[in-house]
Amino acid sequence: MQKTHCPICRKEVFYLVHHLHNMTDKFAVEQVKYDFSGWTEDDGLCLPCLERYRKYNLMSFSDIRITVN
Ligand SMILES: [Zn+2]
Repeated sequence: MQKTHCPICRKEVFYLVHHLHNMTDKFAVEQVKYDFSGWTEDDGLCLPCLERYRKYNLMSFSDIRITVN
């Protein structure tokens, strides 16, 4: 099987995720674009990176409430 490299974490992975259509992924995509200028959905990213950005979005929402002290 041909391996490829994730443009985000630079790790060698078996496949990249390109289908980022649902709302959660839309937020994740915006965040990746913010962190990596020049990156587009067409470049794809590995599943662990996508999961990390999905969680990142959830965390950033909860941070808003936690940091009000
Ligand atoms: Zn990655």
